[in-house]
Amino acid sequence: MKDGAAGIRYPWDTPPAEGEAISVADGVLWMRLPLPMALDHVNVYALDDGDSWTVIDTGFDSKKTRAIWQKLLHGPLAGKPVARVIVTHHHPDHIGLAGWFQTEFGASLWTTRTAWLFARMLQLDEQALPRQETLDFYKSCGMDEDIFNQRASERPFNFADVVAPMPLGFKRIKQDDVIEIGGRMWDVHMGNGHAPEHATFWSRDDNLVLSGDQILPSISSNIGVYATEPEADPVADWLEACERLATYARDDQLILGGHKLPFTGVPLRMKQLIENHHGALNRLRDYLEHPQTAAECFLPLFKRQIDGGAYGLALVEALAHLNHLYHIGEISRTTREDGAYLWQRTN
Ligand SMILES: [Zn+2]
Repeated sequence: MKDGAAGIRYPWDTPPAEGEAISVADGVLWMRLPLPMALDHVNVYALDDGDSWTVIDTGFDSKKTRAIWQKLLHGPLAGKPVARVIVTHHHPDHIGLAGWFQTEFGASLWTTRTAWLFARMLQLDEQALPRQETLDFYKSCGMDEDIFNQRASERPFNFADVVAPMPLGFKRIKQDDVIEIGGRMWDVHMGNGHAPEHATFWSRDDNLVLSGDQILPSISSNIGVYATEPEADPVADWLEACERLATYARDDQLILGGHKLPFTGVPLRMKQLIENHHGALNRLRDYLEHPQTAAECFLPLFKRQIDGGAYGLALVEALAHLNHLYHIGEISRTTREDGAYLWQRTN
């Protein structure tokens, strides 16, 4: 199967069925777990360490996912223990069952310090209703009034709903580490922008790359600004990380990412991951001749109007691109009477 863009190829056109695995390289299994969202799956991998497995990412914590893991453990993983879980970044579809593997099976958790701290903080921060800071943040984005009123009155998305409790104790992975997984030595390079301190693993011994959500084919990783850090500039972080990671990219590499299909042709994909954002920033610059709120920027950014389930992701992504133009001095920001920021080109 071939992508519209020349050079990107997918060696497998069908993902593994629920509870099954596809062997993508010697001792490397690709598996999938369902997600109850528009992006309806996450890829996870198991690498054979001889007398045990290392699992890369884990899926959401749910009864269903735990049951699928039990099926995988006794099926494709053949009852051999999972001694280590490596988590690429702190998002719940990746870290959701890390604590379960630690508590139930005695596995050790390896991840970045930022991923661990962020996930554990969010797992403990359960809210029945959105906090005032979050509501103020929504106002600053110019959120649609009906959506605002609905969100203000209902239980927000909580990490604790889909992430198992995380016990104390993890092993830190950091930039420039070289670690052994599945009989290969891997260089660790940090991604950024989609999630802070997002680990990627580049095999020294063959052509494999475990890329998490930093490098995905066919869909763009969400780059968002949240109430946690409203002035953040994750677009700058993304561009820096992608430009740096692109220097390690080779056409023969098989990219094993967190979503969609394994692929080759990563040098071209890195170019696209960078250029897509430059394109979006250019469209936004043109559009901001007149003052606009973040919520009014969907059309130039995404080339379509967005509502329903994608509204929240679109809003945080719009703010990310506005913050970037603001931080590099190309647009100004003023506050409207209702608390919404209005953004406008400065020249
Ligand atoms: Zn993900």
